[in-house]
Amino acid sequence: MDFLFIGNNLASDFVNTEVVGSNDRIDLLHSPDSLLQWFNAACSDSLSVKLCDKDLIDAKELRSSIRRAFERAVESNPLLQEDIDLLNERSNMLVRVLKSSNDSYKLEYRLDSGADLLARIATACCELLASTKLKSLRKCASDKCILYFVDTSKNQQRQWCSMETCGNREKVRKHYDKTKSR
Ligand SMILES: [Zn+2]
Repeated sequence: MDFLFIGNNLASDFVNTEVVGSNDRIDLLHSPDSLLQWFNAACSDSLSVKLCDKDLIDAKELRSSIRRAFERAVESNPLLQEDIDLLNERSNMLVRVLKSSNDSYKLEYRLDSGADLLARIATACCELLASTKLKSLRKCASDKCILYFVDTSKNQQRQWCSMETCGNREKVRKHYDKTKSR
């Protein structure tokens, strides 16, 4: 299954590495390699960081905290302190480095290890939680779906992760209900 990039944010796209198949949850991060593939796809990068099993375990722990934070945020419930602590701990590891390129310099995030990648994701989550964009964070309106996105549409009416999947299913269901009640 391909990665989904419908979240409009690095943190929501990261949460969306867990999807619901026909019934069960499917985890698209099944190896350290798949974590790196996801990161490179998400950031249009081509890093070749060596990741280990521990990085994958840490990534899933971070993802659980972000999911819980999102679940609570969209319900306007306060975040759990343990999730805030983990996000801070991970985010605090983000390091920026000055690099020279030709005759100028650029400031970049250090992305040399699994901890660096997770720090980048955690920071994106902290920035989202602390910004006005948080009120545009939504869970897909389908009960069965577990995908999150930041609604960047002008009218702020986006309900579905995708019109092709959940949105279409709902349209078909409504149509079916209508024809049945005739
Ligand atoms: Zn959906």
